[in-house]
Amino acid sequence: MPHYLFVDEEESERQSFSKLLTTDDLTIEPMAPKPNLSFLSNRLAEPRVDGVLLDFMLRAGDISIPYKGSTLAASIKEERSDVPIVVLSGVLAQHEASYRRTEQLYDWTLDKAKVAEDAVSARRQLVTLAEGYKAIVERFRDVDDKDKVTVVVQLLDLNHDLDGVAYWLAGESQGDPSRLARLIIHTLLALPGPLLESRRAAVALGVDPKALDRVAPAMETAKYSGVFSDLYDDPRYWTPRLGDCSIPEDAAPAQCEVCGEKASVICEVCHRCYDGFHSLGVARLGAPAKFGGGRVCGYCLESPLPDHLQVPVESKDLIATVIVEAKSAGRSHRVREG
Ligand SMILES: [Zn+2]
Ligand SMILES: [Zn+2]
Repeated sequence: MPHYLFVDEEESERQSFSKLLTTDDLTIEPMAPKPNLSFLSNRLAEPRVDGVLLDFMLRAGDISIPYKGSTLAASIKEERSDVPIVVLSGVLAQHEASYRRTEQLYDWTLDKAKVAEDAVSARRQLVTLAEGYKAIVERFRDVDDKDKVTVVVQLLDLNHDLDGVAYWLAGESQGDPSRLARLIIHTLLALPGPLLESRRAAVALGVDPKALDRVAPAMETAKYSGVFSDLYDDPRYWTPRLGDCSIPEDAAPAQCEVCGEKASVICEVCHRCYDGFHSLGVARLGAPAKFGGGRVCGYCLESPLPDHLQVPVESKDLIATVIVEAKSAGRSHRVREG
């Protein structure tokens, strides 16, 4: 049963969230932060600790705490790189820029308001993180270089490497279990590429995402079942395995929002369906090559793209054409409202 420490400067928050999240298969132990950054050292030395939950600011209540959660997270990672570190905060939205600068220090983020509303998901995520870390540390630590890919293949619950994913993960992780865990959580499971979330997988199969319930059983053979598979609420599917799924013939087809022809992609901005003709390929900045793609529709190209997406230089001339095509179809979607 995973045991987490929970550091928050406010006594009432410590007590209420520890109580809320503790169940028969998860225990949360409240800890008050101390001015000395190493106050957790003794506890962290105990193998019984399987993870740490941290408030993000650690400053609101007690000004004698001279560091932020991110500083504490870095120091915990130095002492225990084999356990997940999770932010549990109520103020991430107000401090988004500051959080984004430090997010690579955390394995997962929980919002206090959402946890108060739905503690079941949060508990499942904390258990999944602790168990996933345990599996990775046990099997990946001290493994010979030549066996690393094989171990990653097993962790991903595969029979052989798909799309070179295990090879890529084994190389990028540099043998560090914690680095491997974060690559799986933040890249493999989070970004479209070798794995797709269910809506994208449906569209890749030519099926309307609204018909997902109808086709999900047929997609079961492509479902990701490896380490951390219970982390995201939405399941993930192996792109190379989608071709093996036998989709019911009467499943509603995915249709391009502009021309109504068969769609094959989801716009990265509005998440509606388009065909290749009425969308433009974009690059995802900072993402590894396997996860670097995506497409944006003509409606969304009219407004500036989010910071992490960029139209490649060689496609810039096409932007105007794709916008005009969308407009001439006369189906304004006003996707950027509000
Ligand atoms: Zn179209
Ligand atoms: Zn769009």
